[in-house]
This record gives sequence, C-alpha cells and structure tokens, in this order.
Amino acid sequence: MATLSVRSLASTCLNKSAPLSLRRDILGVYGNDNPQNRSLKERLNLIQNRPFVRLALVTIQGASPNLQRDLDNANIVYQNECNNWIYCVGSITVNRPNLLVLDQDDCFGSGHSVSDEEDELFDLGRDMGADVVGYYINTSNGGFAGCAAHPPGRRGYWSGSSASPWTFGHELGHVVGDNSHVSDSDNLMFGGGTINITNPPPDLTNSQCSRINSDPDVESC
Ligand SMILES: [Zn+2]
Repeated sequence: MATLSVRSLASTCLNKSAPLSLRRDILGVYGNDNPQNRSLKERLNLIQNRPFVRLALVTIQGASPNLQRDLDNANIVYQNECNNWIYCVGSITVNRPNLLVLDQDDCFGSGHSVSDEEDELFDLGRDMGADVVGYYINTSNGGFAGCAAHPPGRRGYWSGSSASPWTFGHELGHVVGDNSHVSDSDNLMFGGGTINITNPPPDLTNSQCSRINSDPDVESC
C-alpha cells in the first residue's frame, strides 16, 4: 500500500496526521517488552474494517509496566472474541511520586467515592485524544492488582505492579461495556482474580461483546 493511503487512513480513521510514526501510530507499538512480527497489512485491514476503542496510556514514573504485553494481550482477546480492537493513541510518563501507591476510596464495594489522589490521577492524559485512559501505578492502599472505578466523566482504570497478563484487558472490560464479573474462569471478566484465569487466552461471551460494541466510546472508520 502506498504511503499516501496509509496517511489518509491515519487521518480519516484514526485522527492522526503527519508527522506519523508507522511503529506507534499505525502498528500500535509503544513498548519493547513484547517483540513480535507485526503485519502492516493486517493492521490496515483492522483500521479500515473493525470497530475500535481509543485508549491513552499514562505511566506514573517509577512504575514498570509490561505495556506492550498488555496492549497485545487485550487486543488478542478483543479481536478474537468480539471482532473489535484497541487503538492506543499515545503513551506518556508523568512524574507524580505521590500517585505510585494510590490512596484509594473506590473499589472497596462501599459505593463510589473519589479520594484526592484518585481525582489527581484520573485528571492525567485527558488531552491525548481518547476518552478512556489506562494508568500504570505500583499499587493502592487496597492492594489491588488493578481497579476500574473512576470519577464520573473521566473514564479509565489503573493497573499495578502485581497485575497478571490479563488484568489490563479485564479492567478495560469493566469500563468499556460496563461488564461485571462472571464465575467462568475461562472468561476475561472472571471475578476470582485474573491470575487464576484458566485456558488462556480468555474468552468473552456474545453478550459481553455486544455490550462492548455498543459502548459510546467504540467507533468505526
Ligand atoms: Zn474486576
């Protein structure tokens, strides 16, 4: 495919204009932790033909995410199960040492309330071109591997240093499509901890996929 049509696809479908990085803006590669052969042709086909959710990534400096593994794993599940995919619009690192261990009120099941630090965290990355922002921190005072509770109007979730290879996609599944936990341990939304998911890569059911696909933040070219 000619460079010109890659450019026009990026502009029309992804809202990305020159200067373009083929690696980041088209192939969606933002980390070195999961090297593999990536097909430009397959990617262009995805961009043109399958619904996707835009996602921005914010790493709090000092956290050490498996960022590319997470993006790739979530994409495997979403593409295989739901025929949709995740487009990462960008990835930044922000120096906020106070947010590495998040003082957290949410995710304790006692209704949603937002701590000052959750408020600060979920403000970051809001100008990157995605409604949904994924954050990398170390952990929270609740000791969770990840949490998808977020302040109203600022969709997002965080993933911590004890995250499993499926935590990132699981938390995203709570946000996009508002999916709850299920008891099937083969499923991405298994409530017994993503570390205990069986027969990976995990599944999503048709009803979970239709919830995701009808989410307001899932779009098509
Ligand atoms: Zn969960």
